[in-house]
Amino acid sequence: MSWTHEFKEALKNNQDLKDFFGCDFPQVNYPVFIPRVFAAKILEAGPGSPLWNEFLPHIDENKDDGRLDPIGDKVHAKNNQLIHRYENRVLFTPTTVCPVLCRYCFRKNELSAKDEIFDQKFQEALSYLKANSEVNEVIFTGGDPFILSNEKLATYIQEFSEIETVKYLRFHTRTPVILPSRIEEGLIAILQSSAHLFKRSMVMIHVNHVSELTDDVREAILLLNENNIEVFSQSVLLKGVNDSTEALYDLFTALADIKVKPYYLHHSDEARGAMNFYVPLEEGRKIFAPLHNRLPGWALPQYIIDIPGGHGKTPAFNPESFEFSGNLITKNGEKVKII
Ligand SMILES: *Cc1c(COP(=O)(O)O)cnc(C)c1O
Ligand code: SF4
Repeated sequence: MSWTHEFKEALKNNQDLKDFFGCDFPQVNYPVFIPRVFAAKILEAGPGSPLWNEFLPHIDENKDDGRLDPIGDKVHAKNNQLIHRYENRVLFTPTTVCPVLCRYCFRKNELSAKDEIFDQKFQEALSYLKANSEVNEVIFTGGDPFILSNEKLATYIQEFSEIETVKYLRFHTRTPVILPSRIEEGLIAILQSSAHLFKRSMVMIHVNHVSELTDDVREAILLLNENNIEVFSQSVLLKGVNDSTEALYDLFTALADIKVKPYYLHHSDEARGAMNFYVPLEEGRKIFAPLHNRLPGWALPQYIIDIPGGHGKTPAFNPESFEFSGNLITKNGEKVKII
């Protein structure tokens, strides 16, 4: 089945879930979206498994603790599809559509399965990049950029390549894991041409548990690699999914074995509707620390945390101690309280 067909036929509401999984799920305040090929893997993994917890609704999503904009994207949004928080690089958000809706998503209060792909702001984004020559990297995110058509992706890439100061391109995506059939010839050709148009062009896949790396997913990722497309990974530390040294060890080892460089392990965000996945920082440090002894540096990601309020990323692992005083310190010396 083509990936566009998989996308159209996805499970989209509680009735679809009930028909597919044969059990009831609570009505939650956030939309549901799971392609059937992926739902079959969740069903096989069964209730209580990491896959089940990541993607099936839980009543705790309706709790109202946590933050609506946990990492302060709105503080740095430019109203032109760009988020400019760090001097040299911007996030480019050409779509709010994802290949799946993850229950733990830190953007779950902004995304909606119903949103149409929008592009009227693109000319403004190009003008912004021309006027801000300190930006040398554009990071496609979303939503998920690989949900865009090949034509649209190729157009965006071509337009960015015409801005002389943009040297690096990146794609942040969950699609290779959820819809591996999307990694087809057309997309590979586009990514290869991107590698020629920029100094470097990289794909960063979002993956949290080794059980996401089924054979079809591994093949899709290896295909990228065989076509000289650099692949990195990002993972989020999530309660009930990968909150143990063993789970992270298995994940990073499996990634390294398919030639993916584990790039970041993000500490959980304090996102409203996703606090059931939150791991306290002190616990995260204890889980992460033993990995230094078991994995080489090239298979060990940086463990980082986004300081709430838009202050940006900072290392989460404190080699001096596991204890956490309750505050993170911003560049201005301001203390931000976190759990
Ligand atoms: C995380 C992030 C980036 C990417 O940062 P790297 O450390 O280069 O991976 C860029 N812009 C924003 C707004 C971000 O939150
Ligand atoms: S793919 Fe990323 S942006 Fe989309 S729902 Fe999952 S975590 Fe959120």
